[in-house]
Amino acid sequence: MKTRKQSTKAEVQLSIKPTARPTVAALEKQLQRTWKVLDHGFVRVVDYMGDDSAIVQAARVSYGKGTKTKSKDKNLIFYLMKNGHTSPFEMCEIKLHIKLPIFVARQWIRHRTANVNEYSARYSILDAEFYLPPPESLGIQSTNNKQGRADAVTTDYATKVRDTFRGDAIHSFHSYNWLLNDDGDGHPSDLDRPSLSREIARIGLPLSTYTQMYWKIDLHNLFNFLRLRVDSHAQREIREYASSILKIVSHWVPISYSAFLEYQLHAKIFSAAQLAVISEIALGNKPTFEKSGLSKSEWNELSFLLNPKSAQDGI
Ligand SMILES: Cc1cc2nc3c(=O)[nH]c(=O)nc-3n(C[C@H](O)[C@H](O)[C@H](O)COP(=O)(O)OP(=O)(O)OC[C@H]3O[C@@H](n4cnc5c(N)ncnc54)[C@H](O)[C@@H]3O)c2cc1C
Repeated sequence: MKTRKQSTKAEVQLSIKPTARPTVAALEKQLQRTWKVLDHGFVRVVDYMGDDSAIVQAARVSYGKGTKTKSKDKNLIFYLMKNGHTSPFEMCEIKLHIKLPIFVARQWIRHRTANVNEYSARYSILDAEFYLPPPESLGIQSTNNKQGRADAVTTDYATKVRDTFRGDAIHSFHSYNWLLNDDGDGHPSDLDRPSLSREIARIGLPLSTYTQMYWKIDLHNLFNFLRLRVDSHAQREIREYASSILKIVSHWVPISYSAFLEYQLHAKIFSAAQLAVISEIALGNKPTFEKSGLSKSEWNELSFLLNPKSAQDGI
């Protein structure tokens, strides 16, 4: 089978000059580095704008006061994050180059508040590159989460599953290349039959096929993306990308990153009825499910949050 390599870097000459703009030394080191994700994917920082001080600067513009001490800046960022004052975080932006399977890209593209430019399989020919999940990712259907997977299948069965995925993908790419009838230079390999257009030849390719995109987003909306996609409810494959981006964010805006962990990623929202149960416990009472007014799932969720070890026994 013919394989063509998509270029991982745009074929443009970047002229690098000294800048008067604020830069972040830890992120400068990450520029152009590729963070490997899944079997053939990656995340790469192409460019960025702003840092923690840009957030502070924007927040203080309303009072006409500049940057104060470091600890006051940290307190301000934590205050903004805690109280949902989101617009100062929009002052920072990041542009990433991402290579990802199409089924992950479909979930990714739902985040509407980013700017995207994707590889065109109407214009160009796709590489024969597809995602093959490792054996430990091959979970059986979960019984308590219709959108999730449970324990991994046995090693023997995993081999069969992977052979099936691999065989189907290779067959699809074989058909794709046959339909394209392209010698790699835009001429027919076989002069006796037509070369199907790229835009229609691609439609039989699997969702595991890798695509690439440039993705630019501001920090506020990036935190929203990360909150949803680092979470255990998100599909494992997109979670792996989100985890890499979270590490990049820790280099870029370390104070905002800590505030995000504190008030969003590792924080929980309680309903009014759940808070009433927590108050009862704080007063030394022993609330019961029957009198709590909570649904079973809210009660179980609260039990787990308050005491993960004894979740089975209740609060
Ligand atoms: C675990 C999980 C499971 C999911 N399952 C499904 C599913 O089964 N089916 C499905 O279709 N989707 C599903 N989604 C996608 C989900 O519903 C959201 O579309 C996606 O997460 C994008 O979130 P968002 O709207 O907050 O992000 P963004 O699109 O980046 O928007 C950020 C915020 O901007 C605002 N905003 C953006 N655009 C608009 C607009 N046009 N109008 C009003 N406000 C706007 C909203 O406040 C929004 O929260 C799932 C997501 C997750 C994380």
